Amino acid sequence: MNDKKNYGFTTTILHNDRRKGIEHGSLHKPVHTSVAFGYADARQLASVFQGKEPGFRYGRQGNPTVSALEDKVNQMEQGVGTLCFATGMGAIGAVFQALLRAGDHVVSSSFLFGNTNSLWQTTMAQGVAVSFVDATSVDAVAAAITEQTRIVFVETIANPRTQIADLARIGELCRERGILYIVDNTMTTPYLFLPKAVGAGLVVNALTKSIAGHGMALGGSLTDTGAYDWTKFPNIYENYKKAAAKQWGLAQIRAKGLRDFGASLAPEAAHHIAVGAETLALRMERTCANALALARLLEADERVAAVYYPGLASHPQHKLAGELFRSYGSLLSFELKDGIDCFDFLNRLQLAIPASNLGDTRTLIIPVAHTIFYEMGAERRASMGIAESLIRVSVGIEDTDDLLADFASALNAS
Ligand SMILES: *Cc1c(COP(=O)(O)O)cnc(C)c1O
Repeated sequence: MNDKKNYGFTTTILHNDRRKGIEHGSLHKPVHTSVAFGYADARQLASVFQGKEPGFRYGRQGNPTVSALEDKVNQMEQGVGTLCFATGMGAIGAVFQALLRAGDHVVSSSFLFGNTNSLWQTTMAQGVAVSFVDATSVDAVAAAITEQTRIVFVETIANPRTQIADLARIGELCRERGILYIVDNTMTTPYLFLPKAVGAGLVVNALTKSIAGHGMALGGSLTDTGAYDWTKFPNIYENYKKAAAKQWGLAQIRAKGLRDFGASLAPEAAHHIAVGAETLALRMERTCANALALARLLEADERVAAVYYPGLASHPQHKLAGELFRSYGSLLSFELKDGIDCFDFLNRLQLAIPASNLGDTRTLIIPVAHTIFYEMGAERRASMGIAESLIRVSVGIEDTDDLLADFASALNAS
């Protein structure tokens, strides 16, 4: 295949494995389950271990099937390198494990995936200070930055309330201040948005969600976009400064985050994710169109008190979303009017399934305060704008009319 041609998103992902040579004519990257790797002789083994020759050492640090997926994700994010992890949380956890030390400070969006919020609480107990700010405002981020700030961490579209961080201006601020900017791109995926375009140094993707899309494998990734100058980062150990500076970050994350932390992606899971990733663009087109249609139906219904979806003109960052993203995403949330029991409503739905995943081919729906945001308590929920009656919908690829009819009849019976 012609490597120089500027192919589109789906063509590139479909054919990416072939760019590095086909094994036994297999059009899909084979699933290599071997944990250990042998070489021609003991000297070559030593040379691979010392990084003098390319090659795999032990399954925890890398594997050919996982590496093929890393290449694919890297192509999607247009990065300089990508590492995969067992889960999205494994990827985020590895950042903190590998890059932060006691006394450091992080500025984080307060609109966060619930487990990332919980991870920050752990980090704080271990001596890293975290300031939670309203990331829709670059001024709030700027005001929180101190001399000790090493990382600014935001999500693109926050789950579940869909607030959108002021992504470009925060990127500009981080660049001026030499701070590592990390963007969790899970809700948008590289099909809707490239964090590299707003100056993110590291990009997180929970591959479990839309990139795999089928809800049958867990996985996560970190992509270095090449935008961050690692010579400005004070926490890189001498060991990882041997190669060019643009490789320092991932070299340290691979060793400290992946090798020592051990949240490694299994080759079987990498295979399942790679199969799903081929149809990412097609699924996103459908789920985004379904989500917009459903958001409009809900907003027009008198039994619905509020709808949060960036594609609606009523969304506070509607214009910004249109400028930043190819489309408005497949996640929305809404509140029913007082007096309508949200559990009864959920139980009336025939197609939408009560479950906690998102980015699945099926429409999944969940009462947020009673499940995924239950542990953090009412006060923190209120600070994140999560009403006790909030319902989150991860919109799937069902036929649009079927989906709308399911919600309309559940509302009509309310
Ligand atoms: C799900 C999710 C994660 C974590 O991914 P897992 O694979 O479930 O560990 C991180 N960030 C966001 C925004 C998510 O939606």
